[in-house]
Amino acid sequence: KTFEDFKFNKQILNAITDAGFEEPTLIQEKAITPILAGQDLMGIAQTGTGKTAAYVLPMLMKLKYAQGQDPRALILVPTRELALQVKDAIDLLNIYTDLRVLAIYGGLGPKTQKEALSKGIDVLIATPGRFMELYLDEHIVLKHLTYFVIDEADKMMDMGFIPQIHRILEIVPRKRQNLLFSATMSDRVRNLAGDFLKFPVEVAI
Ligand code: AMP
Repeated sequence: KTFEDFKFNKQILNAITDAGFEEPTLIQEKAITPILAGQDLMGIAQTGTGKTAAYVLPMLMKLKYAQGQDPRALILVPTRELALQVKDAIDLLNIYTDLRVLAIYGGLGPKTQKEALSKGIDVLIATPGRFMELYLDEHIVLKHLTYFVIDEADKMMDMGFIPQIHRILEIVPRKRQNLLFSATMSDRVRNLAGDFLKFPVEVAI
């Protein structure tokens, strides 16, 4: 398979070329088509496999261009480090689509993050604690959310984030596409997937 086979638009294909990606990785080959088709998906893939671009490229295709005030995509991650990595992975591929992408996480004051939210964003990357804090403070509106990713679900559980994730699942709109990625598969991951995903496609590499 090639990236052309997915029918990405020109802006995305150009960004892929600029990034130096020559062909899809295995997880991208298996995950991108069902995600583009709108299906929920559980992906079992470790860091280094290209799993981030597997959910970022279809997201760019679906969101198309900067629009409105409120985030349309939410990517929940366990750590500040991963939040910044996902931000970098999106920045690399978002060159010609120009979506407004913000990462929010704990460990520093929320003031700058609040200001950035108030300017309008398309994609929000967040750790669960800071997400809830800013949501309860009414800085995040979820009305237009259509694309919801939980990344490194196994690590989320190791860090004790499951109660917070369940609270977040209660406040997001019902009609949305859900993707869950985890490096490992376990009963706990499967349980979360059961609560989170609807008729998911399962991809393991
Ligand atoms: P990830 O597994 O998402 O952390 O990605 C690991 C690394 O692979 C990152 O540096 C990506 O920029 C890179 N990468 C992702 N997809 C491709 C691809 N199709 N071809 C070459 N490199 C890629």
